[in-house]
Amino acid sequence: MRILRTPQELSQTVDACRVHGQSVAMVPTMGALHQGHTSLFDIAHEHADVVVATIFVNPLQFNNATDFDKYPLQFDSDIQMLEQHNVEFLYAPNVETMYGSQFSTSVHVAGITDVLEGSSRPGHFSGVATVVAKLLSAGRPDVAIFGQKDFQQFAVIKRMVADLDMPIELIMAPTVREFDGLAMSSRNVRLSESARTEAAAISQGLDAAQEQFATGIRDTTQLIQTVETAIGSTDTEIDYVKIVDSVSLKEISVAIHGSVIVVAVILDGVRLIDNHILV
Ligand code: AMP
Repeated sequence: MRILRTPQELSQTVDACRVHGQSVAMVPTMGALHQGHTSLFDIAHEHADVVVATIFVNPLQFNNATDFDKYPLQFDSDIQMLEQHNVEFLYAPNVETMYGSQFSTSVHVAGITDVLEGSSRPGHFSGVATVVAKLLSAGRPDVAIFGQKDFQQFAVIKRMVADLDMPIELIMAPTVREFDGLAMSSRNVRLSESARTEAAAISQGLDAAQEQFATGIRDTTQLIQTVETAIGSTDTEIDYVKIVDSVSLKEISVAIHGSVIVVAVILDGVRLIDNHILV
């Protein structure tokens, strides 16, 4: 695997792939890789000849300095995981390279960034949209892969790519979970042993709501209540449990196939998110 450090190196590398007739997939990450990320590399290989992973802990998307400082860094083991999954290129710029001292641009996707994670984390999605726009414009991949785990992030990037006429196919990869259903996340390592056990209630609640939906229940108040009851028996502080339209992210009162249950909780001081698309 070759490591690229500047946007120029990234552009030239992708151009060289194109000259050789190879298609390119990009998988943006913040490192601290786990099986959720590696599933994205494998899916990327199904869609393109060459995979470029990116690792960049983006200061713009942390509205809380402590969260940024605590973000786990494990570059050496990340490289091993990338190599095990046959990733051809890693783009890993530093903050100075990504945002020079004169950096003045922000990409703001209106509307869908004001709700859910956006209302709890002001500025978060402008940070995400700005960095992803930079990665996609320097890399110009054919395909970019993002996880369903961050459903709102996917919706924001999809809107941005459409609005800015970026000729890039976006793929949403399914959420990879721990043995007990907890969505894999780099933040899970910060949970105490007891909090880690309690965290399984989030996906259990989502599963219970899906079961209810399958029996014909469409009233979102009732479905939300089911999720909240599962989580409420633990020490978890619920930020929100909502059922939204998958594109507008607006709350709905009657669920349909494809509606999304979105959850954010704070457990042991760690913010965890999860979601489920009703089928
Ligand atoms: P992050 O490094 O947390 O910014 O995540 C990088 C990418 O991996 C994003 O597209 C995430 O949605 C995706 N991702 C993170 N956790 C998971 C997971 N458990 N399953 C699937 N994708 C994930």
